[in-house]
Amino acid sequence: MADDFIPLCVPYLRGNESVYLQECVETNWVSYAGPFVDRFEKQVADYVGQAHAVATASGTAALHVALLLAGVEAGDEVILPDITFIASANAVRYLHAWPVFIDVEPTYWQMDVEKLADFLHHECTWRSNNLVNSRTGRRVRAIMPVHILGHPVDMDPLMELAARHELAVIEDATESLGARYKGCMVGTLGHAACFSFNGNKLLTTGGGGMIVTGREDWARRGKHLTTQAKTGTAEFIHDEVGYNYRLTNFQAAVGVAQMEQIDGFLAAKQRIAKTYSSALASLPGWTMPSQAPWADSTFWMYTCRVDASAFGRSARDVVEHLEQHRIQSRPLWQPMHLSPAMTGCLAHGIEIAEHLWQECISLPCSVGLTEAQQSRVTATLHGLASITT
Ligand SMILES: *Cc1c(COP(=O)(O)O)cnc(C)c1O
Repeated sequence: MADDFIPLCVPYLRGNESVYLQECVETNWVSYAGPFVDRFEKQVADYVGQAHAVATASGTAALHVALLLAGVEAGDEVILPDITFIASANAVRYLHAWPVFIDVEPTYWQMDVEKLADFLHHECTWRSNNLVNSRTGRRVRAIMPVHILGHPVDMDPLMELAARHELAVIEDATESLGARYKGCMVGTLGHAACFSFNGNKLLTTGGGGMIVTGREDWARRGKHLTTQAKTGTAEFIHDEVGYNYRLTNFQAAVGVAQMEQIDGFLAAKQRIAKTYSSALASLPGWTMPSQAPWADSTFWMYTCRVDASAFGRSARDVVEHLEQHRIQSRPLWQPMHLSPAMTGCLAHGIEIAEHLWQECISLPCSVGLTEAQQSRVTATLHGLASITT
């Protein structure tokens, strides 16, 4: 019975993964040193078209270090979207800085840049060369746009606001490797960007992440901070508090093999999205994920919005129904301003986020999802529609 289960989003390891892992075993390069780490960094940097890359133990570690590079200090504020996976906000809290959550827009579900502008213009003020949140008195230091679900944030107006307010921009691009904004790769739009290679991401190293940046000094310091801030080669002398945030050669070996297959992975996500969008468009009350005219979405996580009054069942009812049919789906993340983990953080302009939390559902979209599996998902949803409407 186990093999009729359709998971939400699982890895696809059909390339050179085991060949390269075997190479690690045979050469004894299994830990933090070894050729695959450099190779993987170069491969990702070349792919996105950015000058520098620093591999990290996770996407969360990448975000933590990128915020350090941006100069975020304890007591500062960092602006984030209200709808994201909690890792984005946790990275801010690791520095004892404070996230400020901005609502998302209703069409593509990304950070609402007009509400960001409203926050900066009406809630912030300059005090002795620092932009300060008037309500809290804290310095506002950076913006972390999160390109959620494979779709980019509207970056041009965001970068303009950042420049005008002297804010650093760290892209959380962990969900959107391969996506484009006005033809430019996500990950090249801010001052630095972070990717994740967790098991459910477009490609995986088991666990891992990467910082990419055009700034050589940031890349150098990023490498330094992720490797315990060791100065010499023989002596154990460390010039600041660093972290063990390295990726192993084992993990990077898998990453290199996965990067070799990225075009096929992206094509699979597109094909899956297209099939769902035509098969499900007729479901009453269902809205398919849309793509902005300036965006090339990867459709990393295929997510629909379900209007319960039109469909007769809520998104959570649908999750439960699919589960009974051995199909895994999931609702969107709890909005950050409601998270018990983020108690005491401020939010701005929240109107849309809670609706998306109630109404959105992500459907199985693994790279290896077969046509037969996908037909089972769509047939199960149409079956539910026929008994409810
Ligand atoms: C996956 C993810 C991360 C963190 O990645 P890990 O590699 O799991 O630490 C951060 N932000 C967002 C939005 C994510 O989806």
